[in-house]
Amino acid sequence: MLKIPLKILEKPGNTSRNGNKKMKLQTPYYLIDEKKLLENMKKISYIRKMSGAKFVLALKCFSTWCVFDLMSEYMDGTTSSSLYEAKLGYEKFGKEVHAYSVAYPKEEITELKKFADKIIFNSVSQLNEFYPLVKNKNLGLRINPKISYSHFDLADPARKYSRLGVCDKKEILQNLDKINGAMFHFNCENEDVDNLEKSLAYIGKNYKELLEKINWVSFGGGIYFTKKGYDVKKFCKILKEFSQKHNVQIYLEPGESSITMSAKLVTTVLDVVKNEKDIAVVDSSIEAHMLDLLTYHTPAKMKVFKNAKYEYIVAGRSCLAGDIFGTYKFGKKIKPGDTVEFEDAAGYSMVKMNWFNGLPMPAIVVKRLNGKTEVIRKFTYKDFVNNLGNAGN
Ligand SMILES: *Cc1c(COP(=O)(O)O)cnc(C)c1O
Repeated sequence: MLKIPLKILEKPGNTSRNGNKKMKLQTPYYLIDEKKLLENMKKISYIRKMSGAKFVLALKCFSTWCVFDLMSEYMDGTTSSSLYEAKLGYEKFGKEVHAYSVAYPKEEITELKKFADKIIFNSVSQLNEFYPLVKNKNLGLRINPKISYSHFDLADPARKYSRLGVCDKKEILQNLDKINGAMFHFNCENEDVDNLEKSLAYIGKNYKELLEKINWVSFGGGIYFTKKGYDVKKFCKILKEFSQKHNVQIYLEPGESSITMSAKLVTTVLDVVKNEKDIAVVDSSIEAHMLDLLTYHTPAKMKVFKNAKYEYIVAGRSCLAGDIFGTYKFGKKIKPGDTVEFEDAAGYSMVKMNWFNGLPMPAIVVKRLNGKTEVIRKFTYKDFVNNLGNAGN
């Protein structure tokens, strides 16, 4: 077998030179800005104080742990979808570790019980199966309240035939003695505080007996409280009233809202082609580096330019025909070598990046609070080759 020396296949690294004032990083890269992250954290801190609710970061949305030291100052811990996420939360974030999984294999339970503070089961059958192993732990049950706020059927936990959470109230009440808490995750990008108020009133009424017995209740993620214009005061009031009325500790599990607008995906234009419209091809791919947007048919966000009159389709360089970030207007003509930045690229992007087409994964770069830029991780051909095999290096 022909062995190609690695060096030839790897892109030249960082183009920065000693003495250069402006460091130019090799694109593509995700750039996390701690200052922007801090704005979200301060909002969380305010809501925590005013409402008494606790906040655990949903790692399935964002698990880039190089900024966990900052986040853990403002949040109460993490929540997870699997053993690996829970372990990451325990090792890198600290504080409370909530474990949840749609279905646990027994080995995960054995491992989780060593460090998880709460174990949340998705069904009564799993609760009963593993109860003998974890009965001295703080246990919770996920409930499907059959209400939801989601623009997408794909992400609607209360969609028809949903497997997410227990529907049968009788079943819940029969097992009350085993649990301390309940999790209702029923929102997705919910920016409507009045809608949330109605949902909580419904849950309060419909699950009264459950709430009387348990100590904590989680309302999951999907509440867009970091979005501009969200009525944070009213949000705090609703949460506080609910927790006082039912004498429960409320938890929220924000993923997206914790990291809104805190990162960009920085790319470089490689080519501009024309097929009726002008198309700028960048050195990234929505399929490989912002997959969530493609899944939900939403264009990537870009800032609005002044004098924006030059319209381009911005596309990725994978061979997928629909690898398109979106159509944008720029203030000048686009040419190869230009930088194109996609905004709001932290959530559900880095956690989903993949090696499709063998495209180099974006590096992970952080701009710290003190203004210093740190390259946290670069991906190379070695990472690619080891991804689907073991090259022994
Ligand atoms: C996805 C998920 C979250 C986080 O949702 P966001 O929309 O990112 O806030 C929280 N809890 C559970 C159970 C989830 O499945």
